[in-house]
Amino acid sequence: MSERPWLAHYPPGVPATLEYPEVTLDQFIEQSVAKHADLTALRFATISMTYRELWGRVLRCAAALAELGIGKGDRVALMLPNCPQYVIAYFGTLRAGGIVVQVSPLSTPRELVHHLSTSGAETIVVADMLYPMVQAVLPQVNLRNVLVTRLRGEVTPGPEARAFEEVLMSTTGAPPDVQVTPDDVAVLQYTGGTTGIAKGAMLTHRNLVVNVLQSAAPNPDFPSGADLRVLTVLPLFHVYGMTVCMNLGLARGGELILLPRFEPAEVLETIKATQPTSFPGVPTMYVAINSVPNAEEYGVGSIRFCNSGGAPMPLEVMEAFEQRFGATIIEGYGLSETSPVTHVNPATGLRKPGTIGIPVPDTDAEIVDIDTGTRVLPPGEPGELRIRGPQVMAGYWGMPEETADAMRDGWFYTGDIATMDEDGYFTIVDRKKDMILASGLNVYPREVEEVLYEHPAVLEAGVIGVPDPYRGESVKAYVVLKPGASATAEELEAYCREHLSAYKVPHAFEFRDTLPKSGVGKVLRRVLVEEERQRTPEE
Ligand code: AMP
Repeated sequence: MSERPWLAHYPPGVPATLEYPEVTLDQFIEQSVAKHADLTALRFATISMTYRELWGRVLRCAAALAELGIGKGDRVALMLPNCPQYVIAYFGTLRAGGIVVQVSPLSTPRELVHHLSTSGAETIVVADMLYPMVQAVLPQVNLRNVLVTRLRGEVTPGPEARAFEEVLMSTTGAPPDVQVTPDDVAVLQYTGGTTGIAKGAMLTHRNLVVNVLQSAAPNPDFPSGADLRVLTVLPLFHVYGMTVCMNLGLARGGELILLPRFEPAEVLETIKATQPTSFPGVPTMYVAINSVPNAEEYGVGSIRFCNSGGAPMPLEVMEAFEQRFGATIIEGYGLSETSPVTHVNPATGLRKPGTIGIPVPDTDAEIVDIDTGTRVLPPGEPGELRIRGPQVMAGYWGMPEETADAMRDGWFYTGDIATMDEDGYFTIVDRKKDMILASGLNVYPREVEEVLYEHPAVLEAGVIGVPDPYRGESVKAYVVLKPGASATAEELEAYCREHLSAYKVPHAFEFRDTLPKSGVGKVLRRVLVEEERQRTPEE
């Protein structure tokens, strides 16, 4: 057992250990529905829905999915931007005993095929504007049910698909009585993990219920019921939006104000119209709001509780936002594999800006040496952060080797390099994995390199993240061309754009004669990072 210096910094009344109900995630939310039946659960454009109305649709969805043959353990992919249908399909799947497979609406066909085939999903709920992509990959995957939901009303489903709304309306049965336990898998949360190949983190019902309670515990003043209106602009397909906006918001009887994308003008108009009290975000969102000159006029001051996570929060951004709008930004940390929250700054008492705070209840964290992963390092020394707690995933779906690599001796190895101070506050130093964080979204260099390698003129490619004042990091590619071949940066960029989501496309290309390599011939990205660092003038 590690020493836990952080326990001294829990706000008064916050216990080191919490009690957790023995329920599935849908049962947990259903308890909130019973308490808050007439409060507004969802708001989306001109639509609003009470808890009672929402749950009526969830049960209908569960019954409809059961009629389509979906039962315990069956995977249902959701490819939707934030919208009421996402929430309905998510809890409808769980209530039918199924497993939600989170698919980003920004996926390319290649990514979509990977997620659908590795998860074995036979059912997908997809937004109408994304349906043509699903149609295009049908021959490569094993989908039995394609349910298209009307968001823009742009596309009429083809013969292989059905309208989600019609399927819901056509059901006559009651929701199924499926025996699901808290230790059954609820969600496959795809993440690049430590090697860059997207893996489905198996999050159980228990993981997800526990993490709602753990992440709220360090902030005893956090509102609930009608006082909680959550600006839900973080994507729900990402673990942070899923737990901190949706599951936490609904568990506390709050109203989710759903926005399908982060577009500053639209966000400000929504804030003006709906007066949210809570805003979980990533640093680039706070940067964007800070840069709007007349943001005060939109009543941003209604927001009192902000969480930042997913990427390091620059101190100046935090201070500027807090001074201007009178809100407090609580920085926290987590990963897909930990449902996600493992650390937060306490809301009262000792908050240390620039750190990710202290472990949430029932969570152990240690810094161990990178080479052996077993020697616990003293305060101040950087090493790999490892985590133990009831929010840690059950493993990676169908990947026993990767699971064994990440989960050793009861610990989950995060792949992040961090330090812990004498008070038990943790600071993220760097990523062991070479993941690039561009605008808060993960870019895995290997995936970008693989696409570049497929270009006929490319011999070798090395991809790294370079500092970018707006995005945090942007993607840069080093390329060696095949002898006699030619390609311009513009051509390579266009090629990447065809095969990758926009945020993964390199913004800079550098052509080289050779790339630095290790003894076994692997391109050494860290040498490229170092060269880049030496070129960038110190500020
Ligand atoms: P994901 O699995 O997509 O949630 O990404 C998790 C990764 O995001 C972590 O391994 C960290 O590298 C990074 N991350 C999350 N929160 C923070 C934070 N507050 N500061 C720095 N990096 C963070």
